[in-house]
Formats: sequence, C-alpha cells, structure tokens
Amino acid sequence: MKILVTNDDGISSPGLWAAVEALRPLGELFVVAPDREQSGVGASLTLHMPIRASQIAPLVSGHCDGVHAFSVEGTPGDCCVLALEHLVGEVDLVVSGINKGSNLASDVILSGTVGATLHSYLRGYPSIAISVAALKNTRFDVASPLLAVLANELEQAGLDWPFLINVNVPNDPPDAIAGIEITRLGRKSWTETVREEEDSRRKYYWISRNRAIGEEEPVGTDVCSVENHKISITPLDFDLTRSDQIHTLSMVLKDVYDRLLRKQDEL
Ligand code: MN
Repeated sequence: MKILVTNDDGISSPGLWAAVEALRPLGELFVVAPDREQSGVGASLTLHMPIRASQIAPLVSGHCDGVHAFSVEGTPGDCCVLALEHLVGEVDLVVSGINKGSNLASDVILSGTVGATLHSYLRGYPSIAISVAALKNTRFDVASPLLAVLANELEQAGLDWPFLINVNVPNDPPDAIAGIEITRLGRKSWTETVREEEDSRRKYYWISRNRAIGEEEPVGTDVCSVENHKISITPLDFDLTRSDQIHTLSMVLKDVYDRLLRKQDEL
C-alpha cells in the first residue's frame, strides 16, 4: 500500500512520526508535512507565493527503507496538493495527524488536520484525519495502533470508495478507553476573544479560541463520545448544505427574483 502522511502540527511533531511508525508495516510511506506548526489554517492553500519543499531524513527508528519525507514551506493543504499532484502522485490512502488536540464538531472547519484531507478526499482518495484530545501530555499509545488497525481494516474492505473519516481519540491510557463509536459532528464549539496589546511602536492583537458555546451534546455526536472516553469516528463530506431549510428558504425568498428584475428596470 502507498500511503501519504501529512499533518498540521509540523514535520517535527511526535504525532506525525507516531503515525508513520504505525503505518510502516503496511507499505511505502510518503511524509509531506509543513515545516512549522499550521494548526487552525483549515484547508487553505498558498496561492500568492511559491512553495519550497526539501527532502529530509525521516525521523524513524532503525533503517529508513520505504519512508520518504519532505518538509514544505506551506499549509497542510499545500502539502497534500503538492504530494498528490507532483511529488508523490497517486496513493492508496492519505492520513493526516496524529494531531495534538481534538478536532470535534465545528472545529473541523478550522482544522488543518482535517483541511489537508479535504484536498485528498476531493481528489477521490480514501482519507483519514486523526487527533488525540489533548494539547499537552498528548499520548499516542492508543491512536497509533488504532491507525494501523483502521488502515488495515479499510484496506480489507477495499479502498475503492472515496471516504473521509475524522477520528478523535480520548487522551486516556489504553485500559481506560471505553470503546469506539461511529458518530456525527456535534455542535459544541469555541468562539474567539481578542486581546489588545501594545509594543513600542503600535497596537497588536491576539485571537484566542477560549469561549465555549453550545449545550450538552446528545449521544451519537463526536463530542459526546470523546467526553465518555470513547474513540469517535465521523464520516465527513464537504456538503455544508442545511437541507432542512431548503423548503423554508424557498418560501421566504420566493419573490426575490421578481423583485430583482423590477429593481433592475428602475435603474
Ligand atoms: Mn494541530
């Protein structure tokens, strides 16, 4: 199996190399990751400046056979596009992570971990985004073997259907994990506050994601699973359509086009 591994925590992040170690027995690995942390950049691409990539020695134990690594001056999305369109070409599976910190509910919109996989999923590649729910003292002793098992099971099932799964693992020791649930995205999220500071010349601002919004999450959501010490696996898609409002909105806005035509006639 040919596997592309990327992340948003950067090429030197231990989670990235924990993923690589776990997936090594499955085939040939191509690590294409940002040269620095890019958490929170979502699926963004660098379109206004060139991107440089340097081949580096893989940070793996023992020999490096079958592992190729590139450090990229760009976003996780850049890494994925650069790899699939140029550096690596077609692969059987794309993995992004293992991220430090959860990517739950509406966080998936901002997540660079998920953002990278949106580009591979869009191209029809089976894609896995994987995160551990802790920014500090993050442990990979559950996420890492889980990734190997998941990749194996999905390969057995055939990788000929495009999927994007978002995996979140509680930061618990293996014996404290209560199970695995296939979930939907919750709605709980963080909003931002802005702190104003001043240096010797001018003002500057820090945006922090530190204000929780949303209610208790119902059973079946990714947030609820992780809170209950269960691994959450959510199948994702780009479709942000709120289907239940299509009918209401067409009623509310039914005269808009006629009014637009009249407005244009007046001008
Ligand atoms: Mn990150």
